[in-house]
Amino acid sequence: MENISHHSPNTSYSFETLLTPNGWRKNARLEVDARGRVTALELDVHRQRADIHIPGAACPGIPNLHSHSFQRAIAGLTSTRRRGSEDHFWTWRTEMYKAALLLSPEDVAAIAAQCFLEMIYSGYTSVAEFHYLHRAPNGEPYEQLSELSEAVIQASLKVGLPITHLPVLYRWSGVGSSPLLEEQRRFALTLDEYALLIEQLDDRYRDEPRVKVGIAPHSLRAVSPYELSVITDPYFAPHRHQDVRPVHIHIAEQMAEVHMWREHTGQRPIEWLLDQCEVDQRWCLVHSTHVSDEEMSKLANSGVTVGLCPSTEADLGDGIFPLVDYLELGGEYGIGSDSNLRINPAEELRLLEWGQRLHHQQRNLAFSKRVTSQIQGESSDHIYDSLGQSLMLTAARGGGRAVARETGFKLGCWADWFTLDPKDVGLYAAHDHRWSDQWVFAQRRMGVNDVYIGGSRVIYEGRHPLEEEINRDYRAAITRLHERS
Ligand SMILES: [Zn+2]
Repeated sequence: MENISHHSPNTSYSFETLLTPNGWRKNARLEVDARGRVTALELDVHRQRADIHIPGAACPGIPNLHSHSFQRAIAGLTSTRRRGSEDHFWTWRTEMYKAALLLSPEDVAAIAAQCFLEMIYSGYTSVAEFHYLHRAPNGEPYEQLSELSEAVIQASLKVGLPITHLPVLYRWSGVGSSPLLEEQRRFALTLDEYALLIEQLDDRYRDEPRVKVGIAPHSLRAVSPYELSVITDPYFAPHRHQDVRPVHIHIAEQMAEVHMWREHTGQRPIEWLLDQCEVDQRWCLVHSTHVSDEEMSKLANSGVTVGLCPSTEADLGDGIFPLVDYLELGGEYGIGSDSNLRINPAEELRLLEWGQRLHHQQRNLAFSKRVTSQIQGESSDHIYDSLGQSLMLTAARGGGRAVARETGFKLGCWADWFTLDPKDVGLYAAHDHRWSDQWVFAQRRMGVNDVYIGGSRVIYEGRHPLEEEINRDYRAAITRLHERS
């Protein structure tokens, strides 16, 4: 098996079938520069001798716009309920905090590597890691401020999954600046430490195109209005080494949070944020589940990406985002695996659509107007629209904006793609747009064959060269965790 390697300048590829922003096309050629970006794309052309041939059906990589990799360690361990009690987001959080207090830097790295490996196996080609573990289990700072950030970033590089690392500012436990709880002691950073951490990571990874650094106020309850305005100011940490500096925040995930915020400020959380900050294309509003019609139309016009995490939102009993109405207004979204209970972008897209079907009692609903018009613009077959195609293209586009690494077989995008697995029985009937419909709705085994990142092959016929080592380290970390708990 070959190692993960970087190709020489301007590599060319020929594709049999691929999903472009204008829909499925056949016989295409792509040129990719030394950094891994698309510099030329030709359609309906013959293969050339020097081309690397990509057989089968190729899809743009799906960015994972929201992850807490360490939570992979508690997947499937929070489904027991104390008799006679209620279980909800806040009780789940108590369980999650217990695990967070037990992890060493070595554990954090091993769990992240396993989590990222599963991501790249499933069709995610980048991850925005919303990272709030900064201090040692006893609450003391590590000698290196970036100890745990480094553990996570190094895990992503080991796997070969590009990362948008989002160090989180988590200053307070609740609205009105109440101090962090004892069990939140690992999250603490001062504003100065936060600025220093961003600067250190920027410097360290300035020449690594697979690492980007963004800004993440945890939520409105976890930072003061002053702190929020400081860290989201474009001049707080100017992006010298990357195209943009993304800003991500959790918002309006739980009704309790909406009520609390309204009591405190007289406004709903999203309404308040849009009034206080210049929310634009840099921003990703994670969840936004409980959004009013007025907030939704402002969101759609602001250029933000809404970060939807359907499997986690279902698992935590959060609620259902009004996606059909939002898409009607032209809003953008991407998907995230959040708690990493499930890691599979096709499953997220399917759940997203199914939630809307259950709510509206109709089928085939979550079409993005923007994406559909782009496809119709060039297609001769515009009597029917493929939902799988629209879901994949919309998630690739919105996710790419949110993680600041756009994918999608067009000029300037990163050459991140995966090919569909012809051996997956769920894809046996696939051809043309049916590839994406079957992948989203009928795949049986992830449906992913090869994965390319920046034009370099990282997954070979469903296999990563370091799989065994990563699995072994993960098992050791989980064993240590259970011995300690
Ligand atoms: Zn989250």
